[in-house]
Amino acid sequence: MLIGLALALTAHVSTVAKVANSGASPQAAPSLDPQQALWRGVDAGRAQRRVRELVALGPRMGATRSGDAAAQYVSKVFAELGLEVRVIETPERRAWQPLAWTLTARIEGSQEPARKLERAWPWQNSPDAMGSALLALESAQDIAWLTERAGRGASTAAVLLASRPTNSDGTWPIPGRLREGAAQPCFGIAKTEAELLRGWLDSGAKVRIDFELDAETRSAPIRTVVARLPGRRGGEAWKAPYFLFCAHGDADSGGPGADDNASGVATVLEIATAWKRAIEAGASAPAHEVRFAIWGSEIESTRHFLQTRVPADGELLGVLNYDQSGFGSGADQVNIEPDDLPGNVALVNALVAVMRERAPRDASEPGDFPSRFATNKSLGGTDSYVFSGSELFKSRALPAVSVFSSAWGAAGEHKRTAGMPGESWRERDKVRVDYDLYYHSSGDTPENTTDKEPWNMAWCARVGLLGAVRYLEALP
Ligand SMILES: [Zn+2]
Repeated sequence: MLIGLALALTAHVSTVAKVANSGASPQAAPSLDPQQALWRGVDAGRAQRRVRELVALGPRMGATRSGDAAAQYVSKVFAELGLEVRVIETPERRAWQPLAWTLTARIEGSQEPARKLERAWPWQNSPDAMGSALLALESAQDIAWLTERAGRGASTAAVLLASRPTNSDGTWPIPGRLREGAAQPCFGIAKTEAELLRGWLDSGAKVRIDFELDAETRSAPIRTVVARLPGRRGGEAWKAPYFLFCAHGDADSGGPGADDNASGVATVLEIATAWKRAIEAGASAPAHEVRFAIWGSEIESTRHFLQTRVPADGELLGVLNYDQSGFGSGADQVNIEPDDLPGNVALVNALVAVMRERAPRDASEPGDFPSRFATNKSLGGTDSYVFSGSELFKSRALPAVSVFSSAWGAAGEHKRTAGMPGESWRERDKVRVDYDLYYHSSGDTPENTTDKEPWNMAWCARVGLLGAVRYLEALP
């Protein structure tokens, strides 16, 4: 992204020069756009702020205290917009949440201050603990066990420090999961932190680990928030046919979850905000009712929703899901997935048509819409697949599509779907899918992801909003 930034700076100068030469005002073009009232209300800075506020609440996992706080947060945003809001609850479920923790290392007898292991993140189901133990590479009674893989067999150690799994370059731990009722806490640490500790041990030093973890396990329902924006067709509240925008509100792995998936939540909130305010300012309502859902728990909540609310709350016309729409480590592109299901073709094409029409000619700095976009085949692993895999969606060929700026933690290259757009910037039989270096790790923070590229969320929101308008206008 650094190279891109340098290019953007030089390109900016040439853009200004071009505009000056042509004599056209940069503000002239948008007034010719009849849909600008809809998409101009999408605000990347507000999405960026909302990601920070959501991440500050904690990992937001379903049925946890921070999950409830996140549900309250999005309910409030929808309600303040003047949208009707419903909260859907699953039956109670056990859930664990870390509240606070510290992990420090020091060499005994040394004047050096203790080193805080900043990137450490507790594994799920770690019990409350506070103590001090000598570090060792083998498990033994009451020691702090530095291990590559935790969770294999019983240990009598006081605390476990697991240097795996990590993100792809080893710089951030990915929190794993202990069985419920585990006796000792386990902290994931970065490979770089583990190397430092091993170096100290190799030098013959006695290394002391001080640890403290305050966690909470409780039984509570998982809360999903749904809001409705009535369409021009009207209909009884919560009974009219509707199109659904959605994103999972939990942090997936239990880490900070900025890109995965506070970015998706912030994107859905931008669509709701821009659309509702544009209607208040005189824009027409959507052809059909539109709803917005923030799932309390990825997959689990969508399954529960599909089983209990469809079709009880009205006929579902299609789904547009956001997951990792705030950052990409290798490229600046938006992807639409999947393009290999018959029910998705019309919606995918509507989204792509929006991007084709609106892609900025000068691709060297982020504009209002992405300059590069692609459609790719089914890769699975997100909420849209719960819908597209259902009998209802298959038998009626209903669309369930995800819009994102990265997927998974490593770059992907997939065979292009025959007859579908593929990549916008080159003609070939493969499609690139960008990745997030911080995927599922304790490094998935706003600083590392959404703060760097807040325009990604705005792109995804504008493309989804205008694509859905186009798709819904064409429906009978
Ligand atoms: Zn996700």
